[in-house]
Amino acid sequence: MLSRCKDQNSWVVSLQRDNITTHHYMCQCAYTFTLQIQRDEAEKFPVVCPMCGNDYFLDSEAFTANNGVIVYKCFQWETEEYQTEDSWCITRFITIPKVSGSGGRVRWVKERLMTVKLNKDGSKEPTIHKYSHIASKYYLVQENRVVPLHKVLRIGIKERLYRYILKHPTETIMWFNKSKIATFSIKEKLRYVQFFLAHPMFQWHSFFFWKMEGVCLDFPKPVTPKEALHSITNGRKEKILRKNLYQGYADMMQQTGYYYPYSDYVFSRTIDNVDLLAKLFLLPPAIKQALFEADTYSTAMVLIRFLKRYYSQKQIVKLFVHDIQDDTSQDSNMRLFEDCLRMLQVRRDINTFEREFTKVKLTVQNLHDEIVRVYQIRSYRKATKEKFDYEPIYLSACQHYGGLEFRLPLTVRELDAWSKTLHNCMFSYAKRIHQRQAIIYGIFQEGELKYAIELRCFKVVQAKGIANAVLSETVMEIIGGWESQYFGIYR
Ligand SMILES: [Zn+2]
Repeated sequence: MLSRCKDQNSWVVSLQRDNITTHHYMCQCAYTFTLQIQRDEAEKFPVVCPMCGNDYFLDSEAFTANNGVIVYKCFQWETEEYQTEDSWCITRFITIPKVSGSGGRVRWVKERLMTVKLNKDGSKEPTIHKYSHIASKYYLVQENRVVPLHKVLRIGIKERLYRYILKHPTETIMWFNKSKIATFSIKEKLRYVQFFLAHPMFQWHSFFFWKMEGVCLDFPKPVTPKEALHSITNGRKEKILRKNLYQGYADMMQQTGYYYPYSDYVFSRTIDNVDLLAKLFLLPPAIKQALFEADTYSTAMVLIRFLKRYYSQKQIVKLFVHDIQDDTSQDSNMRLFEDCLRMLQVRRDINTFEREFTKVKLTVQNLHDEIVRVYQIRSYRKATKEKFDYEPIYLSACQHYGGLEFRLPLTVRELDAWSKTLHNCMFSYAKRIHQRQAIIYGIFQEGELKYAIELRCFKVVQAKGIANAVLSETVMEIIGGWESQYFGIYR
C-alpha cells in the first residue's frame, strides 16, 4: 500500500466503514500493518509493531485536529533548506498520513511548522514564521520536562540558516571572511550578513562597526573605509583634516569598538575653518559618540548654521571643545546640549527663531536657557491675545516731554522687542499688562528706546535703563515731571 516516508514518526490512521474500523499502522521501522475492529468489539491496546516492538503511534486525526494543548512523548520533524529569488529559507515540517476521499486511501501530506528566512536585500531581520497550530500549541516531553514545541523547533534553526547562506551567497556577500566573525553569536552573525546585504557598497569587514543609521551616503561602487570617511566629511581634503580624521576614526574604533560618524558628518558640513574643524575631528571618542544621534544630527546642523548668523565659528566650536569637553559637573553640559537638540528636533523650527532669539554669551547653559525662553514666549503668545488694551488716561500720557518720548507697548511683540533692546525681563510683564495689573512705558530719545518704567497707582515704581542700569538724576527729574503732569491729579 503506502510507500514509507522518510520521517521517523510512527502513525496510525483510522478508517471507518459500515461496522468496521480499520487502523493503518505505519511504524518508524518502515513496517506497516492494519488492524480491523468490529463496532462492538473492544479496542485491543496497546498495539505493538511485530517487527520492532514499538508501541508509540501518533494518531493522525487527533494530531491535526485543533483541540487545545497536547503533550507528546516523542515527535520527529524534517528540515528543508531552499532559496527563492528574494530570500533564503529554512523550514521545519512533518509529513502526516491522511485519509482522502471516500475510497479511504491514505496519502502523505506535508505540513510546514516553522520557517526562518532572511531577505536577500537585507531589508529585514531574519524572521520566524509559525504556520500551524501544531507549532504553537504542542508540547514535548524532553528529559522529564514539558517543553513547547516551537521552542524545540527553534533550536539551531538560525545557525542552519547562516550556514546555508554562506554556502549559497549572493554577489554582495561573496567577499566574506568567515573566520573574522567566528566568535560572534549566531544573532550577531546574521546581523552581520543582513548589514552587508543592505549595504552592498560596503564590502569591508570594519564597516559593520559603523553606527550610522539615518546617514544617507550613496556610492555608485564599492568603497573602502577611507573613501567612505571622505564622503562623510563632505570630501574635505586638506592635509591636516585628513590626518586628524583618520586619527579620530582610529581612536574611536579602538576605544569604543565602533565608529559613530555623526560628529564628523555634522561638523564638516557646518564649520568651514580648517583649524577649527581639525580640532573637532579630534574630540574625545566618548564625546563624539554622545553629541549627536541618528535622530538629532540633522537638527544639529540646522542649529549650528543658525548660530553662525550670530556668532563666529570660533565661538561656536568653543561650545564643543571647551564647554562640553571640559565640563566637570557630571556631564551636565552634555545633557543640556542633548536637551537643546531634542527640543528643537521635536518642533523643527529653529529657522523661525530670529524674531525672538537674543544673542546671549554663547555657553551651553545660556543657549539652553535662550531656547527655553523662546518657547515660553511662543506658548504664551498662543495662549493670549497679541494686542494690549489700555484705559484712555494711560494712552493720553503717551507724549513728548522734556526731550523724551513716552510710549505704551501696543502689542506683545512690541514688548518683546523692547525687552530685547533693554536686555531685561520686561517681557514677563505681558500677562500682567493684559490683566491690567501693570503698566509699562518705554522711554525713547531721538526715536531710540533708552529706558522703561513701571507705573502702579499712577506712580512710577520702577525705572531702568539697558540691562537694568540705574537712571541719572536728570532723567529721573524729567520722568517725575511727566508723571505729575499726566497723573498728578489722580493721586
Ligand atoms: Zn516497527
